[in-house]
Amino acid sequence: MIAAPPENALTEKALAIHRRLCGVYGCPIPYFHDLDPVSELISSLLSHRTRNADSGRAFKALRARFNDWDSLIEAPTDEVQALISGVTWPELKAPRIQAVLRAVRERAGSLDLAFLRDLPVPEARAWLEAIPGVGPKTSAAVLSFSGLRMPALPVDSHHHRVAQRTGLIGAKVDVGPAHAILRAQLPADWDAQKLYDNHEVLMLHGQRCCFYRNPACGGCAVLDLCPTGQARTGARATRESAALHP
Ligand code: SF4
Repeated sequence: MIAAPPENALTEKALAIHRRLCGVYGCPIPYFHDLDPVSELISSLLSHRTRNADSGRAFKALRARFNDWDSLIEAPTDEVQALISGVTWPELKAPRIQAVLRAVRERAGSLDLAFLRDLPVPEARAWLEAIPGVGPKTSAAVLSFSGLRMPALPVDSHHHRVAQRTGLIGAKVDVGPAHAILRAQLPADWDAQKLYDNHEVLMLHGQRCCFYRNPACGGCAVLDLCPTGQARTGARATRESAALHP
């Protein structure tokens, strides 16, 4: 059995991958949203297993139809489902979005999550994840992507795949538990932008190079740090990658 690398070795590797990919994709990465946290929550719930363009269209349709998110809670679920029909599983997401918003309103007193800014990140995440239907990716997305701009690390399927192939997490670690493991490998004092950059560059790498099928290992900037890529390509390409991306 191969022993797992020690924790500090994984931290060094995580930082090396971060630096290398920031060099490729350009950090700091501009934020793609500036939504209030409740709107970001809805956007995140829509985006699960859905292309960005489709979830973006669904979000715009909800915005155009409802003057405020309280009206979405009271609307017939069939109508909400029809408005978001372009996303995956609209029949599940429509009632879930309404239930999650209802829970926020009951627990916070109104549809306003600005108070989360005053909580430490672990407490803010726990508050959100106490709502059925809100998992680690959604809680991190609300804190990081919204106007709250808090230091939380979301992990999507691309980020997760790159982390697994490079050995930052084990092959059997699911996306949910990966959030805490990958966050712990990065400096505790990293600010929101740095954690956002880390998520974005690993996600972009999954989209543009480390494809689900046939990853482009030969031209990968982290080939020399990646056991999966080394097994696929052999040592020669590994040496070339280290020389090209010092
Ligand atoms: S070397 Fe291959 S498997 Fe490893 S991160 Fe790069 S593209 Fe993905």
